[in-house]
Amino acid sequence: MAENSSKVALTEVEKLLRGEDQLDDKETSELEETKSSKHDPIKKIKDGFMHFKTHEFDKNSDYYNKLAKRQRPKFLVFACSDSRVCPSVILNFRPGEAFMCRNIANLVPGFNQVRYSGTGAVIEYAVAALKVKTILVIGHSRCGGIARLMSLSDTDGKTFDFIDDWVKIGLPAKAKVKQKFGHLCSCDQNKICEKEAVNLSLVNLLTYPYVRDGVANKTLKLMGGYYDFVNGTFTVWELDLDFKPPHEFGAKSSLFT
Ligand SMILES: [Zn+2]
Repeated sequence: MAENSSKVALTEVEKLLRGEDQLDDKETSELEETKSSKHDPIKKIKDGFMHFKTHEFDKNSDYYNKLAKRQRPKFLVFACSDSRVCPSVILNFRPGEAFMCRNIANLVPGFNQVRYSGTGAVIEYAVAALKVKTILVIGHSRCGGIARLMSLSDTDGKTFDFIDDWVKIGLPAKAKVKQKFGHLCSCDQNKICEKEAVNLSLVNLLTYPYVRDGVANKTLKLMGGYYDFVNGTFTVWELDLDFKPPHEFGAKSSLFT
């Protein structure tokens, strides 16, 4: 993939060096569209921060003074890197309320000091040092990472440098969905797997000794969540040996609307 990416990048640079007069109509119109919506990262960052500083930071100086001394988040949240799934926005977490880990398809691998030290470090620090009370793993609708996991064996041989290996953490969830729901269309299977992968991550969390101890001592809860950004709903459930029905928020028929 790296070689292909380099070739694509070089082709794009060559196009630019050739000049606009050598572009065809489609390319020219795409270029005009890009020019009209010019991306200015410095302006976006400056405006964004000044909005936060004016409307949040400066208005709550006591809160942020305390927060500067120490963070005491109650939540550790796993969410997908997908730009539509920002937990601070969809669950209204303020700074200091949730320790975060975001990755492709919001997956939690099992305890493995060789391959997944980045994720392990987040879990260890959040649970052993910060002593969070709840770990929430949030899945979401139309997850590209889960779609990739579900189609792995059907692909034309194209592989990614990192993505395929990473999403394979979810293989047990995929196997369960294929076995129980293999008769459904791929769209429905993906949706089920988006939730099943959350359950797998909750089980994988129990392979971390500090998590296991916290759950056993009832100082730590493991919760699954599912954000459907097509219908605007959020469902949450708890990892518990005793079945408890999930709570759904936001649906038109819901009591919580
Ligand atoms: Zn995703």
